Amino acid sequence: MGPTLRSRVSSQGVDQIPVVIIGGGICGLLAAERCVREGISFTLFERNDDFGGNWVVRANKYSHLQAHAALYQWDKHFALDKKSPFSKVAAPKVLETIRGFAEKYHIGKNTRFGTEVTTVTRKSDRSVLVSYTVVRSGETGTVCASSLFVASGILGQQVSLQGRGLPSTKAFKGISSFAGRHQGVECSLGIAGTAEGKDVVILGTGAFALEAMEAADRGDARSITLIARPRDRWIIPYSQQFKFVFLATGPFTPRWLACWLINVWMGALYRRAGIAHMQPAFGSAHNFTGQCNDALFQLALQGRVQCIVDKVTEVQETAVVLESGAALPCDVLINAQGCEVMYQPPYLAELGLDFRKDLHNFAFLGRSPRIGTASDWVWYNVPHGPQKQVESFFQGQRCIREGREQEFVDALQPTPFSGCKGESLVAANPSGFKARNAAYRRTMLAGRAWWDAAWTRVKLESSELGTWLLCAVMCGAEACALSGWLASPDRAASSKQPGKP
Ligand SMILES: Cc1cc2nc3c(=O)[nH]c(=O)nc-3n(C[C@H](O)[C@H](O)[C@H](O)COP(=O)(O)OP(=O)(O)OC[C@H]3O[C@@H](n4cnc5c(N)ncnc54)[C@H](O)[C@@H]3O)c2cc1C
Repeated sequence: MGPTLRSRVSSQGVDQIPVVIIGGGICGLLAAERCVREGISFTLFERNDDFGGNWVVRANKYSHLQAHAALYQWDKHFALDKKSPFSKVAAPKVLETIRGFAEKYHIGKNTRFGTEVTTVTRKSDRSVLVSYTVVRSGETGTVCASSLFVASGILGQQVSLQGRGLPSTKAFKGISSFAGRHQGVECSLGIAGTAEGKDVVILGTGAFALEAMEAADRGDARSITLIARPRDRWIIPYSQQFKFVFLATGPFTPRWLACWLINVWMGALYRRAGIAHMQPAFGSAHNFTGQCNDALFQLALQGRVQCIVDKVTEVQETAVVLESGAALPCDVLINAQGCEVMYQPPYLAELGLDFRKDLHNFAFLGRSPRIGTASDWVWYNVPHGPQKQVESFFQGQRCIREGREQEFVDALQPTPFSGCKGESLVAANPSGFKARNAAYRRTMLAGRAWWDAAWTRVKLESSELGTWLLCAVMCGAEACALSGWLASPDRAASSKQPGKP
């Protein structure tokens, strides 16, 4: 199938490309694959020399998926693990699958690797100028795009100790590193023998911190301490999030009941593990940091990990001093205090677009089908996540081709977006879910004849129901596994004694 919309050279001598995609992570690849399938010419700009985005830049060799394989399937032909839908696949396998996907659709042919988009300017209502710099040579250039798809991701660099207002580590004599991967360097716990017999202190309680915690446990650290900054934040295993999505998206669950059930359920889990001091006040802002599995709860219950809520005031040669005055022995210091989050790609400012404000159109950065976006979290923020955003964008492309652009623009009513904090715990904000689904439905039905619209509606409704049922099944299976663990702590404890492999 050859492209039906082809690139051409404009009267100003600038390449005119139907679709320019910024970013070669999963979201950019999803958009590129749609271009290939629909015969639309495109150019994808990727700053790195490889596809994969976060899975290249931030994941290390022992990183793994934070959701189940079944829920991290961006294409039906590319299951990460067909045999075990509950597995949390390791980063190398995720990356291999991403590369296989790009290869299958020959996306590399239309990709400019090692090329960073620097500015984006509106040329007219129907085109956008995209300027780029080749990273190695510094060579610059400009192309003209009829439509732009922004898939540049939202995660920036990991935040340094100083970035969080912590003291310098100059005096520290032990091993210190970032968690995950940072500027090409992997977390030191990935090196065999680093943790053995050592006191490991991990700053942070997010996914990377808990990954490091598990690596330290596997590596036979003498002690493992997690230090959380004082703040109101749940640490929620992704396994538990099924329950929340199940509650949030279920047709009959009122919002207050969903919130109440979550608080009660998470509170019980925290108390059981003896880390109740880390739980946010009941009914507080529903902010959370996600982790992969129940390891924090299990290791805390076994006494294998110590969880502290405090602030580091000094890093000495072999110890970390806390605001409370306590000094913790420390041989290995892991910084896992989060990444900068870039909701607003800098180059979009010139288009007068504000990612946070304009994302209210769900898939579009503004009231136009010509500028689309998809970012991050493959599944949970929006059921089906970026797939829906990509779908909407290409529905817009279809309307443009059929001369029905205005019908699509009319469908782009603002969708309330209450801000990222409030949205982060999905069940706390089911209205966000519902509003986004409604926006998706409106855009998907725009520009269709009535019978096509009716059939599309049937397909959309059944896919919603399918997602909800999938969550229900996952939720039931996880609940069984977890209740077994909650009921028999001795079995969990005897499976691994503190300090023993
Ligand atoms: C260890 C780990 C586990 C995870 N587990 C899960 C999980 O279980 N479930 C889940 O849903 N998510 C998970 N995630 C989140 C994951 O990041 C997303 O699922 C997804 O990979 C994000 O894809 P993306 O395309 O939005 O962004 P990215 O992967 O960030 O890709 C963006 C790309 O754009 C490129 N780029 C940026 N700016 C420019 C520019 N100006 N010019 C050119 N190129 C540019 C970047 O180089 C990058 O390649 C995990 C992440 C990590 C690191």
